[in-house]
Amino acid sequence: MSLKEVKHWVFDMDGTLTVAVHDFAAIRVALAIPPEDDILTHLAALPADEAAAKHAWLLEHERDLALGSTPATGAVELVRDLHARGYRLGILTRNARELAHVTLQAIGLADCFAVDDVLGRDEAPPKPHPGGLLKLADAWDVPASAMVMVGDYRFDLDCGRAAGARTVLVNLPENPWPELTDWHAKDCVELQRMLLA
Ligand SMILES: [Mg+2]
Repeated sequence: MSLKEVKHWVFDMDGTLTVAVHDFAAIRVALAIPPEDDILTHLAALPADEAAAKHAWLLEHERDLALGSTPATGAVELVRDLHARGYRLGILTRNARELAHVTLQAIGLADCFAVDDVLGRDEAPPKPHPGGLLKLADAWDVPASAMVMVGDYRFDLDCGRAAGARTVLVNLPENPWPELTDWHAKDCVELQRMLLA
């Protein structure tokens, strides 16, 4: 299948559709999470009270970031193009769904995604787990192999591979994970161009 034939697109949000602003090192310091630990995995293993308090802190911190989101180069034009073609579009993010909506609104793309097609950390197991992609495949009634997962990090690519979907890496000039990547574009402008080529 060529990229031009793909009609079911799932995007990571932070760093893919937006300019990445999360300072994960600072978040780990604020929440007393060891530098080498995955933040969501660490929180999931804490006692319920402590986990709830830290999740609440994270949500507030991320809300401020979401309100100030700016679109990544070419992201708005690409998504508008795909939306205008009538393709199914989804978001799979480790952020919270509510904040995904705030973010999509801030960058002017909220109307391109159905509410049910935006999966946050409470709607699906966090990437690299393929559960979110498989949930969308099920909802859209297509095999995962007909979908493409677009992201800026290896979790996005691992998730796509584990689900049996195709993968696109964007927003990195060089590709550190060629074995996990079906298509690589330096940004969404280049990705949109690949659809026209
Ligand atoms: Mg990302």
